[in-house]
Amino acid sequence: MRVDACGRWFVSFMVEEHIEPLPASTSGVGVDLGVNDIVVTSDGRKSGNPRHLKRYRRRLKLAQRRLSRKRKGSNRWRKQVKRVARIHARVADTRSDHQHKLTTGLIREHGVIALEDLNVRGMTASAKGTAEAPGKKVAQKAGLNRSILDAGFGEIRRQLEYKAQFYGRTIVLADRFAPTSKTCSECGAYQADMPLKVRVWTCPDCGAVNDRDSNAARNILAMAAGGRPVDVHGGRRTPSATTNSGCGMLAPVEMRTNPECVGASHGR
Ligand SMILES: [Zn+2]
Repeated sequence: MRVDACGRWFVSFMVEEHIEPLPASTSGVGVDLGVNDIVVTSDGRKSGNPRHLKRYRRRLKLAQRRLSRKRKGSNRWRKQVKRVARIHARVADTRSDHQHKLTTGLIREHGVIALEDLNVRGMTASAKGTAEAPGKKVAQKAGLNRSILDAGFGEIRRQLEYKAQFYGRTIVLADRFAPTSKTCSECGAYQADMPLKVRVWTCPDCGAVNDRDSNAARNILAMAAGGRPVDVHGGRRTPSATTNSGCGMLAPVEMRTNPECVGASHGR
């Protein structure tokens, strides 16, 4: 039994767990990480976003204000420090719980999981910028940064990677610069103009109705798995662009494979 820094009690048990290996799966899924939904899959499932921080932000603000009014080092101050820490810990716990449910679900159901190789650090770089080059739309970007961090993209990827290794699944990464949102996953046509607010769009080339996020997830799957080639130069797919080579979008795909499953079929 132990008590953590913010005064919560923990009881640990030792259990011997026999981990059943997951049945082999040839199913592949593309995963788009987002803010409205933390996870959208290529088969159209959306996880939602419990927005853990938002729910607790008011409580946290209040607790922090109370803390600021107490004399530093006093007994009341010390008690309040613990209260603030407890709220932080509660946020972390609920977030972690949700992330584990998401990643375990994906790993159980699919043999190959395709992700976009997001640069989380770049995405959440300081919105304020520097004195010489002040950032634009600081408040909006700070809000988005908070959402990205809250959704924990980096953590979701980390969990998927270690669980994939553990259960013999494969993680493939699509090029982070691939225009996954602007490309029709049905015909491969590229739409130059695709504002972020457009959530559903009809492809002018083939007429397919694409949900922004699951369309991106399907592209991520196709690109990472070397599936349907996509023409990034606008217009329709050219007949020559039917292999990985010759299509700039498919080139920088990084493979991470569990050594145990090399040679096994993963539906590629
Ligand atoms: Zn199309």
